[in-house]
Amino acid sequence: MSAKKTVECPECAADVELPADVVEGEIVQCPECDVELEVTSLKPLKIDLAPEEEEDWGE
Ligand SMILES: [Zn+2]
Repeated sequence: MSAKKTVECPECAADVELPADVVEGEIVQCPECDVELEVTSLKPLKIDLAPEEEEDWGE
């Protein structure tokens, strides 16, 4: 029924909107502090700070 889900950013406590079809493991970005958040669980809905991945572009 509810189209949008919101969770609280663990970093700044802002409301972060998640798409209705959000899946576990999805990475979303906090609109307030720009931190990357990973959806760790859907029921109940939980997010956590995404692990920082250093992209290695083969330098
Ligand atoms: Zn935040």
